[in-house]
Amino acid sequence: MPWIFFAVACLLIGAASTVTTSWWIAARGNLHTYTGQYTRTASAADMPGPIRASWPRPDEVRVMPGTQRGYEMLGIDCTIPGNPGDREGGRLLTLWRLRFGWPMIAMEKLEAIGTGGSEPVKVAIDAFEKSFPNSGSVALPSSLSPYLTSSNSMMPARPVWPGFVINTLLCGLAAALLFHVPRMAMRRFWRKAGRCGRCGYDIGALAICPECGSSAQRPQVNAS
Ligand SMILES: [Zn+2]
Repeated sequence: MPWIFFAVACLLIGAASTVTTSWWIAARGNLHTYTGQYTRTASAADMPGPIRASWPRPDEVRVMPGTQRGYEMLGIDCTIPGNPGDREGGRLLTLWRLRFGWPMIAMEKLEAIGTGGSEPVKVAIDAFEKSFPNSGSVALPSSLSPYLTSSNSMMPARPVWPGFVINTLLCGLAAALLFHVPRMAMRRFWRKAGRCGRCGYDIGALAICPECGSSAQRPQVNAS
């Protein structure tokens, strides 16, 4: 049974380090510079579910990767034909999904930018603010602001799948190994020294450890 607690503890450590890594990247401005180049076009399904219906025509979904791994900007442009937009013509709304994490992108926060003040824009921005009250982010306590090199102290709070799970499993596995390797080495050392492999008690020729009751820990080679 104790292995379950061990596994849960490792998964919790994995999840905590997944969040910490994402926040670290978000907090360090030099870790999320971007290329300025859009490298791929994704589909409108990249729009977060709760606002998918309320946004007018997500026409273009563009991805702008960071200049280093661990950062990615997903820009979703929406146009309303026939409405005055920006100089690119009719573009009134942009939803940014700012994503962080390593080795996989694991956490994101959102930004909605509306121009003009027409009814569809208002409806869309209202729906965004209702669905994501804090833009999918949490504010770092101001006591931590000296450590920020990013101009923005809002940390990403939305998990990105499957990256969050993969990072959690990887970090959890690393934590498990980190705990386990020294323990295995110690047990091996104890058994070779004729001690109980479980608690290290000097059991000599006894079949059962008088200290912890462990029986199967004695090396077979010493039986002769
Ligand atoms: Zn023992």
